[in-house]
Amino acid sequence: MASRNGAGKAARIQCLARIAAILLLLGGPTLAAQTTAPAAPTSGPKLVLQPGEALAITLGDDEVGEYGDAKVEVPMGGLAELLWLRLEGADWSARHLQYRCTGVEGPLACSVKTGHGRVDVGKALQEGCDLAFLAWIRDAQKQWRQDFGEAAAWSRMEEVFGPFLGRRLPPGERLPPLTPAWVGQGDLLQTSPEAMLRWLMAPDQGEVVVFGTRFLAGRWSEFSDLLGKANWWFKTATVPSPGEPSATSAWVVGGRGNALLVYHSARGRDGKAALARVQEIMKQPPR
Ligand SMILES: [Zn+2]
Repeated sequence: MASRNGAGKAARIQCLARIAAILLLLGGPTLAAQTTAPAAPTSGPKLVLQPGEALAITLGDDEVGEYGDAKVEVPMGGLAELLWLRLEGADWSARHLQYRCTGVEGPLACSVKTGHGRVDVGKALQEGCDLAFLAWIRDAQKQWRQDFGEAAAWSRMEEVFGPFLGRRLPPGERLPPLTPAWVGQGDLLQTSPEAMLRWLMAPDQGEVVVFGTRFLAGRWSEFSDLLGKANWWFKTATVPSPGEPSATSAWVVGGRGNALLVYHSARGRDGKAALARVQEIMKQPPR
């Protein structure tokens, strides 16, 4: 879709038309679409993104629509929690894990200074409770050492996290210390909207989508009005901008059935604002 040659453009237009058609089938309004690439013809749909925004979307087939700089990697922040669900979600939800977040634990601070209070897996995921995830993943790591041994445990973890590590982790066969970087703080774990979407689309990640639906759907009445009766699920994550921690950008991952989208905001937005932007983008009138 990034190709600007004739064939690429034709394929892009075809893909955009398909996305709009299927979103209409989902019960939504006409989807307008435009990318930073030359605009599609007036007969085709346009999705207008603002500078600095990026979006990748699929409707459950293998086609991916990309808008803005959808292949640019940036720190993934709390989307890392979805990676942990892939590894441990089944076990954690079967055990009904709980954690009491007071906002600090030793040198570690949570995203909410006063703490999230008592959280289960669903609430920790909804509210981005880093301390809960850190406590749970450290317990999980101890268990893996016993169950699989060091090298096999690392290769199991690397299978899930590898695509998000680049070359930022020294090679080795030992489990790394599970610092806050492993729940998405800092820049160890990175992704792009396109890469994150393709990861979620892979059959191996089916369980992540199931957990997303189970833990995160049903809280977004404005979206159920907008895009049909069934519930979308959304996971938001606010990420400090590199070199300027007081500024942020934000991620939104969401889905309904087989439709999935991954959005990354322009600088200056938090998760809530990013979700509002996703809503605005989907509501754009026909052009
Ligand atoms: Zn917390």
